[in-house]
Amino acid sequence: MDMRAKDTSTLYEQIEQLVDWLAEFGKSENGGVTRLLYSDSWDQAQRAVEKYMNQSGLVTYYDDVGNLYGRLVGSEENTTTILTGSHIDTVKDGGKFDGAYGIIAGLLALRGLYEQYGAPKKNIEVVSLCEEEGSRFPMTYWGSGNISGAKNPEDILNIKDSQGVSFEASMNKLQFGIGKYSLPKRNDLDCFIELHIEQGVVLEKEKKTIGVVSHIVGQRRYNLTVIGESNHAGTTPMAWRKDAMYAAAQLIQSLIDRGKEMFSDLVVTVGQISLEPNIANVIPKKATFSVDIRHSKEDVLERFCDVIFKDLKMIANKHQTQLEIDNWMNENPVLMSEQLNSLIQTILEKKQVPYMKMISGAGHDSQIFGQYCPTALIFVPSQNGISHSPLEFTNTKDLEVGIQVLMEALYELAY
Ligand SMILES: [Zn+2]
Repeated sequence: MDMRAKDTSTLYEQIEQLVDWLAEFGKSENGGVTRLLYSDSWDQAQRAVEKYMNQSGLVTYYDDVGNLYGRLVGSEENTTTILTGSHIDTVKDGGKFDGAYGIIAGLLALRGLYEQYGAPKKNIEVVSLCEEEGSRFPMTYWGSGNISGAKNPEDILNIKDSQGVSFEASMNKLQFGIGKYSLPKRNDLDCFIELHIEQGVVLEKEKKTIGVVSHIVGQRRYNLTVIGESNHAGTTPMAWRKDAMYAAAQLIQSLIDRGKEMFSDLVVTVGQISLEPNIANVIPKKATFSVDIRHSKEDVLERFCDVIFKDLKMIANKHQTQLEIDNWMNENPVLMSEQLNSLIQTILEKKQVPYMKMISGAGHDSQIFGQYCPTALIFVPSQNGISHSPLEFTNTKDLEVGIQVLMEALYELAY
């Protein structure tokens, strides 16, 4: 695809072309996309985006970890930068839009702005972030975390993928690595704007084209282990049992019931459970289950977790079992920029786009940027709310509205 000539196709056509073009890198048999961090398909996609950026007249560069930037250079001296973009990596057999849309939106917005208005006053950059999903290595937000300083080189030492390949080796193989590009720490970022598919059904159900995100929810994740005693399923009377599964069932029920009672908008999920010895005629001695708790307010999360874990310990005691609580993830809720959101809402009202303010229940790069610089996250609808699947789909018309809104916001901020 030669992008050098001024594109005479419409924005709508260009979106369709770019979505299909980017989905070719890592295309899976059933029409999905697999672009795991630092894999061949990841590398090919990143290099292809780099080429597209160059052909669009953007100045391109990488950082140490493989984040790719395309800069539309501002005319003012020593100017600051408006950043937009999203992540290039996908889950295994993911969709064409998750992450990719934010990058494509940035590419087309910068191209469109330059063709219409020439150089901006401030720099505008589109970033193709190297990693967000945590699909290959047990590490998420590696791209945005390196820009913001939330991640450090030591974080990946000794991390391996499921094949035993080290994080560092796979990064080095593609000529990335700590100290490789030695860019100075950034202090030029004015703000970050990310366009992303909703990955939920709210916009579709509410018949809105755009979601303006006010908060990204905070998350607490735990592994709970109930320790009882294994024994014969036939010869041990009920009164003398220390049944880890029975206790776990009571704990799970209490956890979810209390969640619903205490806060209507809190979400609690137990998605994973394992038993030991996991044999049909043996009373389980150990039950381990996951707990995922999310809410947009820090104090709600704190209050709920304080109350619930005291309760759960009591319940476990009552069943003569022990409860071990491993809290392995605490992500605080992140507030998006009210100033950027009001700019975006003004644009939406002017264009008479049906929109709503909403909370993001999923994590995004914007939650990392949101702790570092003013950040906005804009959603477009996901058909049937499906994501992380080859069936992921958003109408081109909705994708187009998102890009037009992004273009106007970038114009206001940079021209
Ligand atoms: Zn994503």
